[in-house]
Amino acid sequence: MKHHGSGSGVTAVHLDGQMGAPLASDASRREFLKTLAAVGAGTVLPARGLLAQTASRAPGGKARRIDTHHHANPPIYVKTTGQFANWTWTPAASIEQMDKYEIATSMLSITQPGIWFGDAPKARSLSRACNEYMAQMVRDYPGRFGLFAAVPLPDQDGTLREIEYAYDTLKADGIGLLTSYEDKWPGDPAFVPAFEELNRRNAVVFIHGTGPSCCQHLIPGVTATMAEYDFDTTRAVESLLVNGTFSRFPNIRFILIHSGGTLPVLAGRINDRFPKDRLDRVPNGIMYELKKLYYEVAHATYAAPLSALTKLIPVSQILFGTDYPAESMLTTIDPLAQFGLSAEDLHAIDRGNAERLFPQLKA
Ligand SMILES: [Zn+2]
Repeated sequence: MKHHGSGSGVTAVHLDGQMGAPLASDASRREFLKTLAAVGAGTVLPARGLLAQTASRAPGGKARRIDTHHHANPPIYVKTTGQFANWTWTPAASIEQMDKYEIATSMLSITQPGIWFGDAPKARSLSRACNEYMAQMVRDYPGRFGLFAAVPLPDQDGTLREIEYAYDTLKADGIGLLTSYEDKWPGDPAFVPAFEELNRRNAVVFIHGTGPSCCQHLIPGVTATMAEYDFDTTRAVESLLVNGTFSRFPNIRFILIHSGGTLPVLAGRINDRFPKDRLDRVPNGIMYELKKLYYEVAHATYAAPLSALTKLIPVSQILFGTDYPAESMLTTIDPLAQFGLSAEDLHAIDRGNAERLFPQLKA
């Protein structure tokens, strides 16, 4: 069993920052405070594995979901990048929402535009600071959070160092990447050393959409948040296919966001139009690789995207996620419940499939 932080003897859950996310209710706040009181300040708690089991049922005896798409917004990130200064997010606000919507554990990541702004030393420093912050959250709330560490992918030496630190020191659960970096997508040959190392570590790689540099501000009035992240998710997969990354590094478990963006509806065309001179890069076939990927469903459980996704891949590859705090959790949870899945399939999406990726969370 894997333990986070220093292992045994993690003491006390503590609140840093004010309670009160926009969506928080007084009832869930009271429930959370009650739980804290039951835990008791200064109480020595068992290590993470045991707490993960407790968290899967408590508080309220109902928490069950594993949220694979959940963002931290560290103060150092806001200060350094100027991004998301208007978010009222705190770690306690995440916990409050998780308790309200029966989420046992959330895997933390940094959202787009990520930590790369063209300067390698700054990107190394920012990724390290963000990863330390998220790792502290994992320690502060045992069992409630996991960590997808940020890395400065265009800086391969810095990335290899951060992968090592994230796994060996911070005990990360995976690595968080973006769909593109300036004019490069993840399958670019320049990124091979990082994927070699991730393959060696059997890594889970969470790929978050972003607005690529080619396609910013193309249409006046249209923001990248409307559709561009989901187009770029498809480009990232094309890049990983045509460069042979999927077949060359088969131990990596990739997670795409938003039900795969536009990939499910374009999969047939990608299969038909795949460049003939690169078929040797996908010796098992294109559909084989697409069916191996994991698809997180935040903000994409509407009937159309979920219909396309469930026609492309088996339910075993679908993961629950919310994209909180960028999105209200209900924008995912309500349509998912209304889609007509069996109780068994819903459970697999809510946590069963994620338990295969993160066996340390198994209840
Ligand atoms: Zn997100």
